[in-house]
Amino acid sequence: MRFDIITIFPKIFDSYLNESILGRAQKRKLIEIKTYNLRDFVKDKYKKIDDKSYGGGAGMVIKIEPMIKALSSILKSKIKNQKSKVIIFSPSGKQFDNKIAAQFAKKYDNLILICGRYEGIDERVKKIIENCKLKIENLSIGPYVLTGGELPAMVLIDSISRQIPGVLGKEESIEEKRLGVGVPVYTRPETFIHKSKKYSVPKVLLSGNHKEIEKWRISKRSKNRLLTT
Ligand code: SAH
Repeated sequence: MRFDIITIFPKIFDSYLNESILGRAQKRKLIEIKTYNLRDFVKDKYKKIDDKSYGGGAGMVIKIEPMIKALSSILKSKIKNQKSKVIIFSPSGKQFDNKIAAQFAKKYDNLILICGRYEGIDERVKKIIENCKLKIENLSIGPYVLTGGELPAMVLIDSISRQIPGVLGKEESIEEKRLGVGVPVYTRPETFIHKSKKYSVPKVLLSGNHKEIEKWRISKRSKNRLLTT
C-alpha cells in the first residue's frame, strides 16, 4: 500500500510514522509513505497557497491550482492499473471507522490523502477530481474540528496499515479479529503494592485454564467490538 499525502506541513509526519510498527512496515516495504509539500507547486515567490474566501468571512481557503498540480504530479508517477482512491478530509465528511480501514487495506494499492487547513479547500477541487474519473471520498475522523488534515491522515495510515498482512507481528496481531477490543490486560508483577494497598491480577488469568480465561475475556470485552467485516 502506498500513501501519498498532500500537505503544507510535511514535517509533521516524520516522527510519528517513522517509529515503531509503522517505521518497521516502511523498512520492510509493506507500506510506502510519501509527502508532497503544496508550496512546491506554486510559482510565485511568496509560495502563496491560500486566499480570501469568496462571499467574505475571516478564514483563508486553500487554492485550486497548487492542489491540482500536486495531484497531477502524483498521478503521473503511477502505473495505470493501480487501485487508487483520493481522500479529502473534512469534519463534515463520512465518519471513518475500523470497517472502512479494513476495506481500504484490501481494496486499494494507493491512497492519496489531501490535508486541508484554515477554512478548508476550494470546493471545486472535488469536482475536478470527480471529472478525472478518480475515486474520491470525503472523510471525517470524528465529531470535532481540528486545525488541519494531518492528524486525520496519520489516523488513516495507522489504522489501515495494521490491517495489512505482515504489518503487525504475531504478538501484536489484530486484536479486533480475535476477541474484540477493550479486554483488560495485565503483566508482571502478580501483585503490586501502592500506599500499602494491594493491586492483584484477576485469579482466573493465573489459573492456566484456557477455556475459563477465554470466557472471562469475552465477558469483559467492549460491547463495541470494532468489527472489521
Ligand atoms: N470549514 C471547514 C473546516 C476546516 S478545518 C469545513 O467546514 O469543512 C481545517 C481542515 O482540517 C479541514 O480542511 C480538514 O482537512 C481538517 N479537519 C478538521 N477536522 C477534521 C475532522 N474531524 N476529520 C477530518 N479532517 C478534519
